[in-house]
Amino acid sequence: MNNLEFAKIFWQIAEFLELKADNPFKIRAYRAAAQNIESLSKSLEEIYAQGGLKAIEEIPGIGTHIGQKIEEQIKTGKVSVLTQLRKEFPQGFLELASIPGLGPKTALLLKKLKIDSLAKLEKAAKSGQLRDLPGFGAKKEKNILRGLNLKKASHGRFLLDEASAHAELLVEELEKLPEAKKILPCGSLRRGQETVGDLDILVVSDKPNIIMDKFVKLAMVKDILAKGETKSSVILKNGLPADLRVVNEKSFGAASHYFTGSKAHNIHIRQLAHQAGWKVSEYGIFNQKGQQIGGQTEADMFAKFRLDYIPPELREMRGEFEAAAKGQLPKLVELSDIKGDLHLHTKATDGLNSIEEMAEAAKKLGYEYILISDHTQSTRVAGGLSESEMLAHLKKIKAANKKIKGLEILAGAEVDILPDGSLDYPNKILNQLDIVIVSIHSNFKMPKEKMTQRIVTALSNPLVKIFCHPTGRLIGQREGYEVDLEKVLPAAQKYNVAIEINAHPQRLDLTDVYCQRAKELGVKMVISTDAHSTDQLELMKYGVMVARRGWLEKKDIVNTQAVRDLL
Ligand SMILES: [Zn+2]
Ligand SMILES: [Zn+2]
Repeated sequence: MNNLEFAKIFWQIAEFLELKADNPFKIRAYRAAAQNIESLSKSLEEIYAQGGLKAIEEIPGIGTHIGQKIEEQIKTGKVSVLTQLRKEFPQGFLELASIPGLGPKTALLLKKLKIDSLAKLEKAAKSGQLRDLPGFGAKKEKNILRGLNLKKASHGRFLLDEASAHAELLVEELEKLPEAKKILPCGSLRRGQETVGDLDILVVSDKPNIIMDKFVKLAMVKDILAKGETKSSVILKNGLPADLRVVNEKSFGAASHYFTGSKAHNIHIRQLAHQAGWKVSEYGIFNQKGQQIGGQTEADMFAKFRLDYIPPELREMRGEFEAAAKGQLPKLVELSDIKGDLHLHTKATDGLNSIEEMAEAAKKLGYEYILISDHTQSTRVAGGLSESEMLAHLKKIKAANKKIKGLEILAGAEVDILPDGSLDYPNKILNQLDIVIVSIHSNFKMPKEKMTQRIVTALSNPLVKIFCHPTGRLIGQREGYEVDLEKVLPAAQKYNVAIEINAHPQRLDLTDVYCQRAKELGVKMVISTDAHSTDQLELMKYGVMVARRGWLEKKDIVNTQAVRDLL
């Protein structure tokens, strides 16, 4: 069993416990464990084989309780707690309860109508059967249909971190074959799209049959859809489809360009080739005699058309060809440009690690600074701090900053924006923070104009420096609140507030297109992880992908600056 499958066990336990309204700390612990397991670099089975239960328990966020369940799974092939929980709920329950706006209570009611799948639910909602259930009505029925559509829209799409982790596992396995000379995950993953429908792995080899044999027999493969000489398609155990193609060395550039897409971008390249009297395919660039005149490297695919190299994240037909022809492509920000993380949580609220642990982990990433930004009093579900608790917390942050060398620990808070646009602490508290970052965590259902005004009012407070996860969306789970970004972004520029690109794969908020717009308006951006554990600090790369898709350069991003320039 790989780590992602182990993690899934704990995600599911957490979901069931949440449905039972069990202890929130317990639920949080399971989720944190799942998240940590997903980001481990070594497999749990390996760790267990080498160091037994003790080694497992020492993994951050695991401990005795969860460690024993991992051991149980390794020894017996199941976790009895999960088996038991499954028995307590009707068939298909978890799937139904996961529909946005439906919830566990309603899901239980559906049993009366013998609804145990999404398909049956949709049919019942469309035919008006649901409104006869107690507590239901036409409005609720409509909400459920809306939730179903949201679920469908994300159906079959995987979050960037899950897709990326699976691609890495595949690459790792294929790298064991000396016959695989080059391996490159292409497709929407390489372009950094916020969700991924399938993996496209490209391999260079003279012995495609050896590569194919290994690929379809990997332990992480569930079903083989097709196995050919140079192309195979499988479904991985988590449901993610994966295609593998093998090409010759001399086609590598053309193939990597072709399989990276986007489709619209590729069509344009083919048109350029047509105008030049050539042909472009996944095998190369060919002249009229059918001789290959380019395509061994990806740079060829642009240079042959007198274009600068277009990075994968820009291949979306948003002006990249015009810019490449004029030598005006941006020099995109890179992960290595990032000098610090300005949004993270600790044990003081809903985080998993202490200030010191977060700081040590940030140091390992080579950062110069972090901003500790725990929740404020109104966000009770996340353990938000009262004014006096915040003052005590500040002292701890300052003490940690003195103790830890080689990293600046800044004191901050993720301050709630209240419904009227005022902030969750008075200025006399905010004044004591190094950097104030603000967010919306409640009253999502305001009319657009009111929500926009609420945010603009908050940004006008001169103590506010960063506006976090600006639309509040959770991919596949919750649409963002209604807000007019065409008013918020200019306000951010006017009040000198930076807009966050939240790097958490479920948020990726602000989105790429609006990043581009923000840049046009002269708004400063910041990329933050919103890490709730040390491992989550590594989510930064996904935020960088969004920034790159938004054409952002190092100079557009606040946290590429040294700490002295921040404050
Ligand atoms: Zn937040
Ligand atoms: Zn946060």
